[in-house]
Amino acid sequence: MMIGFPLLMFYLWGCLQFYRGKLVSPLQGELWSKIIKEAWPTWYATKIYLIFCLYELFLAYFMPGPVVKGAPVASLNGKKLDYLCNGVTSWYATLITSYILHNYGYFRLTEIIDNFGPLMTVAIITGFAVTFTVYIVTIIQGNQYRMSGNLMYDLFMGAALNPRLGRVDLKIFAEIRVPWVVLFYISTSAAIKEYEMFGYVSAPMAFMVLAHFLYVNACAKGEECIPTTWDMTYEKFGFMLIFWNLAGVPFTYCIGAVYLHITSIDNGRPVQHSTAWTCFCYALLISGYYIWDTANSQKNRFRMILNGTYIPRYTFPQLPWGTLKNPSYIKTKQGNLLLTGGWWRYARKIHYTADLMMAFSWGFICGFNTVITYFYPAFFIVVLTHRVTRDMERCARKYGKDWDEYCRQVPYIFIPGIY
Ligand code: NDP
Repeated sequence: MMIGFPLLMFYLWGCLQFYRGKLVSPLQGELWSKIIKEAWPTWYATKIYLIFCLYELFLAYFMPGPVVKGAPVASLNGKKLDYLCNGVTSWYATLITSYILHNYGYFRLTEIIDNFGPLMTVAIITGFAVTFTVYIVTIIQGNQYRMSGNLMYDLFMGAALNPRLGRVDLKIFAEIRVPWVVLFYISTSAAIKEYEMFGYVSAPMAFMVLAHFLYVNACAKGEECIPTTWDMTYEKFGFMLIFWNLAGVPFTYCIGAVYLHITSIDNGRPVQHSTAWTCFCYALLISGYYIWDTANSQKNRFRMILNGTYIPRYTFPQLPWGTLKNPSYIKTKQGNLLLTGGWWRYARKIHYTADLMMAFSWGFICGFNTVITYFYPAFFIVVLTHRVTRDMERCARKYGKDWDEYCRQVPYIFIPGIY
């Protein structure tokens, strides 16, 4: 995977960039010589990517926000860590900064899509560099946790559970502050480029900007719900999380926006679909977003209210039915509560289903000329299935008979009445 992921990223981009989305043989020498030429890392791309990451780190350190407690950390004998949740203020500061940089000509946002190949290579190199650095520092400090003894596996899964730079938690930083923001700027960059070339932004390109805006905004506005999630409390900070967040997510989830950009140049006009199809894609995105946002917030707020850790937030947008009043739940012997009301009465992973609705809408808005634009939804199905399997096994072990009762009361996993 550590070799295959980066190669796959180059391959998909190369097929889009040089072969109009046709899946050419990955053994073709011509493909790779083109990729090496066009995606060779440059100092300019290095400066863009690293200055962005450092600026986000600076914001994560200094911007104001509420402090919330995480779940008990096993490697710290059950101690709860503090998390400064300044995602929203950092996100707005980033938006304002980029507007000033672009508008006053210090850094045109179109540079991002114009330097896509080198930027992707720089992100990939950074992903590896951070993986090795974090691993070595953790071993030197003796902070390794739950090690398997197999070097490759431990590099992949990580050694440290909650590495920090001062008060910045590196795991939450890498998951929230880099990938989705970069993704948003890639599509925004492509949209501005389209506007400069054709004098307007097409509905599919505007869709991409909206879709990526919703995702990054959701991560920022509900950040206080993240410290107690599985990734924060259980997953270690290894190649899987580091590489995937610093390079994989932004540079593969953006494939649709890159496709729309390249196709508009090839065709001399932006991609357009029938009004009905465009409306269907927007409706799928917005309804998926609504369920995803409210399901996640229902579950997280339910637990926070009953644990006494809930803090009311007025970050935009607060959607109706995001907080449940007196929902039904199961009190487990272990002490935790399992929500069975709200969206959670319909399926145990209803938020994954909603996330998949959005993922498919990102593919549908690109049409059906290439399968590459369906990489994200296809890959996402694999990721979520893998997560569900691991999570179900973990919960069954953790909650025993209470989990069986929960599965009896909420029998479906993804789609109510079907599966
Ligand atoms: P979940 O939000 O599904 O968290 C799983 C944990 O929630 C379980 O281990 C359990 O933890 C607790 N839980 C499960 N059912 C209930 C319930 N009924 N009531 C209360 N608690 C429950 O996992 P993720 O962290 O995987 O997903 C969070 C969001 O992030 C999702 O919306 C997902 O779609 C999104 N995501 C997006 C990705 C992307 O690449 N776009 C990748 C991964 C996730 P406990 O031990 O505390 O009981």
